[in-house]
Amino acid sequence: MTRHLRNLGIQFQISLPLDGEGYLGRECPSTDCERYFKIKPGTGLEGENLPVHCPYCGHKGPMDHFHTQSQINYVTSVVERKVQNAVVRDMKDMARDFNRQTRGSLLSLSMDVKSSPVRLHHYAERELETNVECGNCTLQYSVYGVFAFCPDCGQHNSLHILDKNLEVIEKMLVLATSTAEELAGKLIENALEDCVSAFDGFGRELCRVHAQKAADPAKAEKVSFQNLDGAKANVLSTFGIDLSACVTSDEWAAAVRGFQKRHLFAHKMGVVDEEYLAKTGDPNAVVGRKIRVDDSDVRAVLQVIRKVAKHLSENLVEDVA
Ligand SMILES: [Zn+2]
Ligand SMILES: [Zn+2]
Repeated sequence: MTRHLRNLGIQFQISLPLDGEGYLGRECPSTDCERYFKIKPGTGLEGENLPVHCPYCGHKGPMDHFHTQSQINYVTSVVERKVQNAVVRDMKDMARDFNRQTRGSLLSLSMDVKSSPVRLHHYAERELETNVECGNCTLQYSVYGVFAFCPDCGQHNSLHILDKNLEVIEKMLVLATSTAEELAGKLIENALEDCVSAFDGFGRELCRVHAQKAADPAKAEKVSFQNLDGAKANVLSTFGIDLSACVTSDEWAAAVRGFQKRHLFAHKMGVVDEEYLAKTGDPNAVVGRKIRVDDSDVRAVLQVIRKVAKHLSENLVEDVA
C-alpha cells in the first residue's frame, strides 16, 4: 500500500549545485564567526571525511557542519518533494484499487488524488573578493578580504599572498626598463612603495594570527613592518625571533636603505633629511637633495623581504606545532 514511500528509504544522496565557476559555498559553524567562503570541489586534499578549517577564524570541524542556511533550505525542499511524490503515487495506487473494487457496485463511488508540488528553494552562491590557490595543498578557495587559512590543510596564506604581490612588483620593474625615463622613475618609486606595503600587510597579519604566543599579545597585534629596524626590534622583543638572522649584514643594510628611501618618498617628497642619513649612513645622499632610487634598490629590498618573510613565517609556525 505504501510501496513508493518505502522504496524511498531513509537516506538521500543530494548534490549541492556549484556556482558558475565550480565553487561551493560554505559557512563557519562557530557562533562567533558564521562567515561565508567558497571552495572548489575536486581541488586540494583527497580523502574521506577530511575536516574543514574556517579561513577566517581557523575553526576546525567536519565537512557537513559547514553547510550554508540556503543549502539546508534547498536540501530540505528536495527531500520534501521526494516524499510528497512518493506519497502521492501511493495514494494514486490506492485510488486506482478503490475505483477498481467499487466499479459496478450499486452505489458507485470514484476517488481522485490532486496535489501541487513542493516549491524547491533555489539559491545562488555569493560573489567574494579574493580567489586563492593554496600553495601547500592546491585547494582553490574564495574569501572576503585577502588573508585566510586554507579550508583543506589549514595553512595560512600570508606568505603566498606576499609572493603574489612581489611577482607583480617584479613585473613593474621589467616594465620600467622599456618605458620613457620619467615614467620609469615613477614605476620604480611605486614598486618600492608597494614592496613596503606588501611586507607590512604580510607582517602585521602574521603577527596577528600568532599573537597569542607572543610575550605581549596586544603589542604583537600592533607591530609595524614599514621600518625594517623597528620591526626587527619589536619582533625580537615580542616573539624572540631575529628577523635579520637569515640575511648577511650587507643585505640587511641595503634593505634598510631601501625602506628609508621609501619613507622619504612617502613623507618628504623624496628629499633627504638628517634622519635618513642617521638611519642609513648612505654615502651618496646629501641633506636637502633628492634621493635617487633605481632598479637595484628595489631588487635588494625584494630579495631581503622574501628571505625575512619565509624566516619569520617558518619560525612562528614551528612554534605552533
Ligand atoms: Zn570561522
Ligand atoms: Zn591548503
